[in-house]
Amino acid sequence: MVMANAADIKGPVARGSRGAAMAYDAIVVGGGIIGATHAYYLARRGLSVALLDKGAVGGGTTAHNFSWVNASCKTANVPYHRLNALGVSMYEGLAQQFGAAPIGLNPIGSLGIARVGEATTYAAMRKQAADLRALDYPACWLDHAALQPLEPGLSLPDDAEALWSPSDKVLDARTFARFMAQQVRALGGEVFEHCAALELLADDGGCVTGVRSDQGEMRTSRVVVASGPDTPEVLSALTGYDGFAARFPVAKVPGVLVTTPPLPGHPVRHLNYTDDGGEFHFLPDFNGGLRIASDVTDGQIIEDRSPAHLRALAVGLLERMQEYLPDFGGAALVDDCQIAVGIRAYPDDGFSIAGALPGAQGLFVIATHSGVTLAPALGDLMAAAVAQGRAPEMLAPFGLDRLAGFG
Ligand SMILES: Cc1cc2nc3c(=O)[nH]c(=O)nc-3n(C[C@H](O)[C@H](O)[C@H](O)COP(=O)(O)OP(=O)(O)OC[C@H]3O[C@@H](n4cnc5c(N)ncnc54)[C@H](O)[C@@H]3O)c2cc1C
Repeated sequence: MVMANAADIKGPVARGSRGAAMAYDAIVVGGGIIGATHAYYLARRGLSVALLDKGAVGGGTTAHNFSWVNASCKTANVPYHRLNALGVSMYEGLAQQFGAAPIGLNPIGSLGIARVGEATTYAAMRKQAADLRALDYPACWLDHAALQPLEPGLSLPDDAEALWSPSDKVLDARTFARFMAQQVRALGGEVFEHCAALELLADDGGCVTGVRSDQGEMRTSRVVVASGPDTPEVLSALTGYDGFAARFPVAKVPGVLVTTPPLPGHPVRHLNYTDDGGEFHFLPDFNGGLRIASDVTDGQIIEDRSPAHLRALAVGLLERMQEYLPDFGGAALVDDCQIAVGIRAYPDDGFSIAGALPGAQGLFVIATHSGVTLAPALGDLMAAAVAQGRAPEMLAPFGLDRLAGFG
């Protein structure tokens, strides 16, 4: 059931600036897909919630990513795979509840393409398929004859085969975050856009008592920081401890995304990825065109994000795309493409951080890569942790206490 237009979120007037501070069971700082989804699950548990974003809900990294909901490329660490697989399956439940289109979900599956003649990458993709089967994640190996009908319009080498992960999906994360925020309001919570959290309020014993924001003071005994790549700086500002900005174990890792203009009738049906000739991935975008990216180009923008360099990288990606779609226009499309840079919040060991901040009473943090996939799983599990004061078993490997300086 769609309860309201997800685009129609307005922060209430800053009642805090008029007098009595507002009071909530929990305040979530950051209205990206992680914070908005977490706020939704808190509200579903009956907590009164305020969700704050210094800008627009869904306007951070949530607006610039590759949109891939998957556990298919996360096989090396079993708890992390399970967390991602939970996210994938929770989207199926949310699509049943609200409909796929209103939440921005496109359940198209993924194809991991590998050429038999490329021994190393082929063996790696076969291993990934075997690992996924061992983990009970839906995965199926396709020989060339089975692959080509799934992507009849793609030009594929004769020795191309693929790992098909039919439960992988594509999500317009910004639409989803805004939909979640709308549900927060529908459940009685409040969403404050263009409202920065500035300072944590605490009593003499160090227990959280509220947040000072630029729209006034808000009272609460639980604050969850879900500020994406800004998490170290936000923790520093809120607590007044500079060490967070300097040493919090989350790096900012950029990535470049090229989105073509609408290409009516383009034939791409799945999210496709390959390691042959360097990592490369593309999908049918929500705008009717294609979104294209590569880990190789991501590595090339760490030093130089000038428009000229980004344009040159986009040309390279469009040329690579043309190998799969000879008639699509290639580099000639570059000036009509959107070239965006997104910033990953990347925990030092690559895995999510979700839990209480050791030593603080009532302060929690969620910081993760793969947040498009993980938002429902982390949002719900953390809601249990925040509401009950005890983290569910599945979150145990993802606490801050595993990382240097927090043990
Ligand atoms: C290039 C790229 C490709 C990616 N591809 C995928 C993918 O295919 N699949 C996948 O699962 N994940 C992917 N990701 C990762 C995913 O996009 C992120 O993990 C996710 O968007 C993070 O959401 P978030 O809510 O944590 O952060 P954000 O979306 O950045 O939200 C944080 C919010 O906090 C707000 N904020 C900051 N400071 C304050 C403050 N003081 N007060 C109030 N609000 C504040 C910001 O305004 C922002 O809106 C990709 C990321 C990148 C960069």
